[in-house]
Amino acid sequence: MTQIDEKLSPILDEVMRRNAGEPEFHQAVREVLESLGHVIAKYPDYADNALIERICEPERQIIFRVPWVDDAGNVQINRGFRVQFNSALGPYKGGIRFHPSVNVGIIKFLGFEQTFKNALTGMPIGGGKGGSDFNPRGRSDAEIMRFCQSFMTELSRHLGEYTDVPAGDIGVGAREIGFMFGQYKRLTNRYEAGVLTGKGLVYGGSRARKEATGYGATYFVQSMLGTKKDSFDGKTCVVSGSGNVAIYTIEKIHEFGGKVVACSDSGGYIHDPNGIDLDLVKELKEVRRARISDYVEARKGASFVKGGKVWEVPCQVAMPSATQNELNGRDAQALVRNGVIAVGEGANMPCTPEAVRTFQSAGVMFAPGKAANAGGVATSALEMQQNASRDSWSFDQTEARLADIMRSIHDRCAETAEEFGTPGDYVLGANIAGFVRVAEAMRAFGVI
Ligand code: GLU
Repeated sequence: MTQIDEKLSPILDEVMRRNAGEPEFHQAVREVLESLGHVIAKYPDYADNALIERICEPERQIIFRVPWVDDAGNVQINRGFRVQFNSALGPYKGGIRFHPSVNVGIIKFLGFEQTFKNALTGMPIGGGKGGSDFNPRGRSDAEIMRFCQSFMTELSRHLGEYTDVPAGDIGVGAREIGFMFGQYKRLTNRYEAGVLTGKGLVYGGSRARKEATGYGATYFVQSMLGTKKDSFDGKTCVVSGSGNVAIYTIEKIHEFGGKVVACSDSGGYIHDPNGIDLDLVKELKEVRRARISDYVEARKGASFVKGGKVWEVPCQVAMPSATQNELNGRDAQALVRNGVIAVGEGANMPCTPEAVRTFQSAGVMFAPGKAANAGGVATSALEMQQNASRDSWSFDQTEARLADIMRSIHDRCAETAEEFGTPGDYVLGANIAGFVRVAEAMRAFGVI
C-alpha cells in the first residue's frame, strides 16, 4: 500500500471512524490522500484550517423513504439518497444511480470522486451524487414511472438550478430523467430546464450528452497514447459493460481505427474476434433492453462466456466501463501478461488499488476515472449553459467543445504530475489538480 503522509493519516483514521462500514468511501479518500502528501510538502498552508478534513466531509447527506405501488398493487419501499458533497465551485452536480447495491457509503464515495472530477473540468460545478437501492431490472415502464415520481417528490425540495443539478448514472437514462423532470415541473410549477441534465432533446437536452462519457474517455486515452506518439489505430481493445458509457466508448474507438473485441454485462462477456457489431449491441441494449448473451445468436464467430470477465481477452487497450472495483489485481496481472499498454477508466473507480499499482509498476499508461470519464459531467455543464442561454447547439459544436475539454483535462493532469516530479502518473496529476481548485475556492471563503 502506498504510504500516506504522516500529517494526513489521522484524517483517514477520522474518516474511517466517522463513516464506519463504508469501504468504497474509505478507498476513494485514501487514494486522494495518498496523492496529497506531495501537495502539503510543497505548499504546507494547504494543511491549515482543517481544509482537507473539511473536503472529506460532505456538506449535506439526505436519506429518504421512497414508497411506490407495483403493477400487482403491492406497496414497495426503497431508500433514496442525495449526498451534496461540495459546493465550493458551483451547484452540486452529479448523477443518480438506481441499483440494488446502492447505500450511503457508495453514494458518498461517488460524491467525493465527483467533486474532484467536476473541478478538473474547469467548469463551475460542485460535487454531489444520489440514488436508490431500487432495482429497475424486470420492472415495467409504469412501475419505473411511479418509482421516479415518488423519488422526485422528496428529492425536488433539495434541488434547483443554482442549488443541486442531478443527471443519470447506472440504471438512470433518458426515460428516468424524463419521468423525474416531468414530476419536478409539476411539483414546482416551474419550467426550470437547468435543474436536471441528460434530458431529451425536445425538452432542453443537449446533443452529444448521451455519447459524452464514452467519447470523452476515448479522447482522453487517445491523448495519453499521443504522449508516446501512439494512437488507437490498429489496436485491439476490450471494454467492460454494455451501457451508455461502454457503447459510446466502442463507437469512438472504432472511429479512431481501433477494434473492440469484447464487452459484457452482469451475466458474462461476449468475444467477437471480428470486432463488436455495435448496431447489434445498441439494438439489444438500447431498444430491447435484452441481455448481452443474445448477441451470439445473431452473429457468427462470436462467443459468450457466462460469468467471465473481459480482462481475460488479450488486448492492448482496456476500458473498464461498468462499475466500481470490477477489475482486481489478478485481472490486472492477466492484462499485463497479455500485453496491455493503456487502461482508461470509463466507470467510477472500476480498478481496485491493487490493480492500479499493478498497471503503474508494469509501466502501463493508466487514466483514472475522475479524469478520463469527466466528459459526461462536462457535457452536462454544457447542457446547463445551453439551458441558461435558451440555446441549442449542433452535435458537431457540442462534440468539439467536449474534445477540447478532454484535451485540457489530460494536459492539466499530465502537467501537474510533471510539476510534482512523477511524470506520467495521471492518478497523482488528477488528484492534485482537482484538489487544488476546490481548496483554492474553499480557502477564499474562510472557515465554512
Ligand atoms: N453520472 C455521471 C458521472 O459519474 C454524470 C454526472 C452528471 O452529468 O451530472 O460523472
